[in-house]
Order: sequence, then C-alpha cells, then structure tokens
Amino acid sequence: MNAMLAVKVVAAAAVALVVLALLVGPLRRRLVARPLLRVFRKVMPPMSQTERDAIEAGTVGWDGELFSGRPAWSELLALPRASLTADEQHFLDHDVETLCAMISDWETTNVHKDLPPAVWQYMKDRGFLGMIIPKAFGGLGFSAYAHSQVVTKLSTRSGTVAVSVLVPNSLGPGELLLHYGTDEQKRRHLPRLARGLDIPCFALTNPHAGSDAASIPDFGIVCFGEHEGRRVLGLRVTWDKRYITLGPVATLLGLAFRAYDPEHLAGDRDDLGITCALIPTSHPGVVIGRRHMPLNAVFQNGPNSGTDVFIPMDWVIGGAPMLGKGWRMLMECLAAGRGISLPSSNTGMAKLAVRTTGAYARVRTQFKTAIGRFEGIEEPLTRMGGNLYMMDAVRMLTSTFVDRGEKPAVLSGIAKLQITERNREVINDAMDIAGGKGICMGPSNFLGAAYMQMPVSITVEGANILTRSLIVFGQGAIRCHPYVLREMAATREPDDAKAVRDFDAAFCGHIGFLAGNALRALAMGLTGSRFAATPAEAAPEARRYYRQLTRLSASLAFMADVSMFTLGGALKRKEKLSARLGDVLSLLYVGSATLWRYEQDGRQLADAPLMHWVLRDALYKAQGAIEGVVTNFPNRFIAAVMRFIVFPLGQPHVVPSDRLGQHVARLLIEPSATRDRVDGRHVHRRPRRAGGPDRARARGDGRCGPDRAQAAKCRACRETDGPAGARRRR
Ligand SMILES: Cc1cc2nc3c(=O)[nH]c(=O)nc-3n(C[C@H](O)[C@H](O)[C@H](O)COP(=O)(O)OP(=O)(O)OC[C@H]3O[C@@H](n4cnc5c(N)ncnc54)[C@H](O)[C@@H]3O)c2cc1C
Repeated sequence: MNAMLAVKVVAAAAVALVVLALLVGPLRRRLVARPLLRVFRKVMPPMSQTERDAIEAGTVGWDGELFSGRPAWSELLALPRASLTADEQHFLDHDVETLCAMISDWETTNVHKDLPPAVWQYMKDRGFLGMIIPKAFGGLGFSAYAHSQVVTKLSTRSGTVAVSVLVPNSLGPGELLLHYGTDEQKRRHLPRLARGLDIPCFALTNPHAGSDAASIPDFGIVCFGEHEGRRVLGLRVTWDKRYITLGPVATLLGLAFRAYDPEHLAGDRDDLGITCALIPTSHPGVVIGRRHMPLNAVFQNGPNSGTDVFIPMDWVIGGAPMLGKGWRMLMECLAAGRGISLPSSNTGMAKLAVRTTGAYARVRTQFKTAIGRFEGIEEPLTRMGGNLYMMDAVRMLTSTFVDRGEKPAVLSGIAKLQITERNREVINDAMDIAGGKGICMGPSNFLGAAYMQMPVSITVEGANILTRSLIVFGQGAIRCHPYVLREMAATREPDDAKAVRDFDAAFCGHIGFLAGNALRALAMGLTGSRFAATPAEAAPEARRYYRQLTRLSASLAFMADVSMFTLGGALKRKEKLSARLGDVLSLLYVGSATLWRYEQDGRQLADAPLMHWVLRDALYKAQGAIEGVVTNFPNRFIAAVMRFIVFPLGQPHVVPSDRLGQHVARLLIEPSATRDRVDGRHVHRRPRRAGGPDRARARGDGRCGPDRAQAAKCRACRETDGPAGARRRR
C-alpha cells in the first residue's frame, strides 16, 4: 500500500514538474525550448538565398485565413469586387471591341502566321501594350481588374492577340521598371513601352534551366568596357535563352543572368546572384534566333543569345545597387502577375468554349434529340458550367486582392494552377461534345485552336506539376502558417539568447495552434460541423458550405502541422503528400472565391445550382485529397490518429447529384440571364440582390419556376436551396 502511495506521489511530482517547466517561462526556455531549437537547427534543411527569396516573396492575406483553421468569413464577404473606372469601361466597350472585330483567328494562324500589321499598329496606338504603365508615363494606368477584363475578352476572340497583349503587361521590363527602375530608366523606357515604340520581352529560361530557373548558367562579369566611346563600369554578359515570348519581334530585351564580380569592382562579394538588365535588341552581339511555333499558336516566340556582350551598369534594372537582387524582384512581381495573365486568358478561353458548346448542344440533334438533352452529354456540360463559374470567381477575387495592393504569392499560384487545369478539363469536355466539329480545322472551328494551345498555359509561369507538388503547399505552409516562419527565423538568429526567446514564443503558439485545430476538427467532425459559426450576412442557401469549409480549414491546419512535425525536411521530397495537402488549400480557395462571387453577383437564385455544384465538387475532392494523405502517410500510427481526428464518423461528402448536374447543364443550353452572367456578357454589372419577390422571379429562370408546390416536390430544388429554402417555399 505504502509502495503504491510512493509511486503515485512520484508520478504526481513528475507531472507537476513537467507542468511547472512548461508554465514557468525561464524554466521552459532552458529545459524545453533550448534543446528543441538545437534539434530544429540540425533537422531544418539548409535554405539557399534564392529559396528564401521565393518563400518570402509577396504578401499573405486570405490564404493565411484559409490556413488558420477559422477563416474570417465576414472579412471576405465585406470585400467588394474591384470595379472599372469610366475610362476602363470605355476602353473595353470601344477599343477592345474594335480590336476583336479586326481579328480573324483563322487568318492570323493560317494565312499571316502572325497578327496582321494593322492589328499590331492598332494595339500599339491604343495603348494595349502599356495598360499597366501609369498615365504619367503615357500608359493607360489600368487596374489589375481592368487588365484582367481586357485579356479575358480578347481571349474569347484570339489566343494570339491575348498573349501579345498580356505579355508586355505582366512579368517583364514594364513591371520590373515600375517597381525597381531608377527614375532615369523609367523616363527613358516607360513612355516608349507605353506607346508601343518598344516591344518588350523577358528572357529567363535557358535550355538547361526551365522549372529550376534559379540555376540559370547565363552569366555576367563585372568589368570596365567601352560604351558610346567612353570607358565605363558594366558587365560582360553571356547567355542562351529559349521559348521567349515576343522575342523574335522584341526591341527591348529583359534579361536574367547571374552576376559575378571577381575583381570586386562593385562590392566585396564574388557571386552577386541573379540580376536583371534591359538590353536593346539592336545592341551589337545580341542574336535573335529562329522563331519557335508553339503548338501552331502564332504569337511570337523564339530563342536569343549573346556571347561576351558588354552592357553598361545603368542597363541593370535599378542600377548597381540592384545587382544580385533579380530573383527577389522576379518572385515579387510573379506573386501578383501570375494571378492575372493566365487566369484571365484561360477564363476567356473557357467562356468561349462554354458559350459555343452550350449553343451547339442545343442545335445539334442526333437520334431526333438535341444532344444536350442526353444524360451522357449533360455530364461534361455540367462540369464545364461549374468549372467556368468557379474559374471566373477565382479570377475576380484574385485581381481584387492585387488591386488592393496585395502580392498574393500563394493565392496567385493556386489561381494559375486551378484555372489552367480546369480550363484543360473544360476544353477537353467541349471537344468531346463537339465531336468532328471540333476536330476538323477551318474558319468556323471554335475549339481546335484552344485545344492545341492548352499545354502552353499549363507549362508557363510555373509548370503545373511543379506548382502543385512543390509550391502551393510548400510555400503555403511556411508563408501562411502563423508560427513556422518565426520558428525558422529563430534558427537563423545569431544572438543565442534572443533565438531561444523567439523560438520559445513561436513554439508555444504553435503547440496551442496545433492542439486547438485538432480539437476543433474533431468536434466539427463529430457534430457534422453544425455548430461552426457562419457569417450572418451569408445567403441562407450557402450557409452550410461556410461551416464545411471551416471544418476543412481546421483539418488542413492540423494535418499540415502533424506532417511538418513528423516528416520535417523530408516533406519537401514527399511531393505526392505535399501535392494533396496543397489540393486541400487550393479547394478551400476555390470554394471561398465561389461563395464570395455568389454574394457579389447579388445571390442570384437562378445561378445557385452552379454555386452548389462547385462547392459540393470542391468538398468531395478535398475529402479525397485528405484520404490520399492519410492512406499514404508513412507513419501508420500517426495516420490512424489523423483519420480519427478528421473523419471521426467517416467521410461525409458525396459527389454532386445527377439532378443538380442536370440543372447546371440546362443553364448552359437555354438562353437565360444566368448563361449571360456565366459567359461574361454582364460581368461588369453588379446585379441587384435578389430578395422577396425577386427570389421567386429568379426561381423561374431555368429551374422549377415560381410555383411553390411544384418546387417543393422537386428534389433538386430542395437540394440546391437546402432545408431552409425548402421550408421557406412550403
Ligand atoms: C510557349 C512558351 C512561352 C514561354 N515564354 C517564356 C518567356 O517569355 N520567358 C521565359 O523566360 N520563359 C518562357 N517560357 C519558358 C517556360 O517558363 C518554361 O517552359 C517552364 O518554366 C518549364 O520549363 P521546361 O519547359 O524546361 O520544363 P522542365 O523544367 O523540364 O519541366 C518538365 C516537367 O517536369 C516538371 N517538374 C520540374 N521540376 C519538378 C519538381 N521538382 N517536381 C515535380 N515536377 C517537376 C514540370 O512541372 C514539367 O511538367 C515559355 C515556354 C513556352 C512553352
């Protein structure tokens, strides 16, 4: 008995000591934080400056909320969609329409193999190549949203014209000069770029460095040389680039290379790092190679090179102080640009595909029936509609963030990845529905060009497999996590006492964050997320999705922490796990953007099937991604714990129903306000919120009609409006 008592006392004392050690700051720092920091320093994979620049580039905003386990939905819903100024709207209604009317994609591709000279001239004269350049430098000074609207519209007409416009307005000389150029460089180049007197291109990719662009072997040696009859400090540059868009017609070459300073003429380091310079293509030694033909797309693209070409130091963007800062510049500009250019051009392509395919499915009959009425065709049509609704939502939300001054590195990566992948699905589905009409090329083939050019979008600005496997979660988990970056910074802190203090604070927060998310994920799993908070201002028919997304967010945050704690640096190599965790983050963004769009569009009940389909599809896919992580997690005990926490009562989500899919498909093949909203004819207008009698009217559009009795009988209407909607109708 006494022995038992002694054991109990010792155990209680041990527990008390541990609790004391954890609660008393100095003790905890000495006994827990310091040894842990030592372990962290050992296991943390070494990070190069380029990796650090890539991870730290840009800002964290809504992605941080999605990663927090409890997204602040009200903040999202309070965010008004970016709007157009009168000038921007006028440009869209006149200049863009005129440009569209001037182009025949068939003739451009098959006759001229280039944009006709009159089209090039119109684009230059009307400022299409300088949309992002401020008015003070002669540009149009458009917002990201206006830029996005222009590219989206142009893409519905011709991929060649869209690419030729989007490239000078995205990552390249114009944008780099705006952010990092000296005043003199801005004065020298921006007015010429704005008026199309100079055509820019930006050359980063080398035959030996594509996805791994930071390892480009192109180099420049700091030295003195002769320029315009004077001996000046500069660089002797050697490069070999390929796949450069606008390269064959460019007059101003933006070039990335690694700068070295062996004689220490510009500082005290040998290897300065990646550097960006602007070189006129007329400069002696610049070689513009033979044009590429990317999958029969005729936008200008080709290689360029140079050997020992001397350039003066003031051709380096930002001058000598910016030597070696090129990678950071590129990463920061990419953070914003990646969310605009490809998302816009791909949404435009999808709008064209959905509009034309929906109409085709209505007029093309087989077996004496419009093919759009066959269930087999309804299935791809449904996917097309849902995908487009979501793509446009993500495009609009991302450009809204950029216009608010954010540089959303993670969200823009997700936007690029999700929109281009979904567009590939849209175009493939459209091809299946069009049959021979999409295959045989000719002036009235509305799909063939998009089908051929799809891999270009998948490959550029971060190839999709790389973005999914390495970037979305890899960058997201570190950037968006409230504590990981602080822990990493502590491991690099030279002052040991400060390092221990910082690490201790971050680590304690981290443990609380992990435990909190685990408990919340479990509680929401056990209650079906019924008690999770929903924003009061959300549409009643969408409320349950906010609750489900909150549960998903808590599950993701918990699983991400467990993965990082147990796998550490090895997680970087476990690309399949990282990709699946990234998918959950991507689908959270897709779902939240769609809910935001539904509110922004004025809660159009007629559009509700699209919103419901996207959310159900996203939740089901996210569930599959989580299952993929758990099934393949190397530590089976941890996997079992994870499964218990995130799926305590099994997997709750199912695929969107066929009835819901039928509603979506019908919206695409019958003329309606919804179809106009989806294909973009009315995207500039903010419709009134539907409420009261408007609700009933909206219900008459493409669904069961305002007849309450009929609507109450329809399973799909009950499903799309949810129990609250069904009750209201009754
Ligand atoms: C039409 C076109 C226009 C372009 N325009 C420009 C331009 O204007 N300027 C410019 O500088 N560049 C441009 N590029 C280059 C483009 O950015 C590169 O093609 C891209 O970075 C991919 O490089 P790569 O083609 O060498 O493929 P690779 O890097 O060889 O990649 C091949 C495959 O491997 C995958 N992969 C690579 N690393 C990993 C990894 N760690 N994990 C998982 N998967 C991985 C990729 O996702 C891809 O699927 C253009 C390319 C094309 C085709």
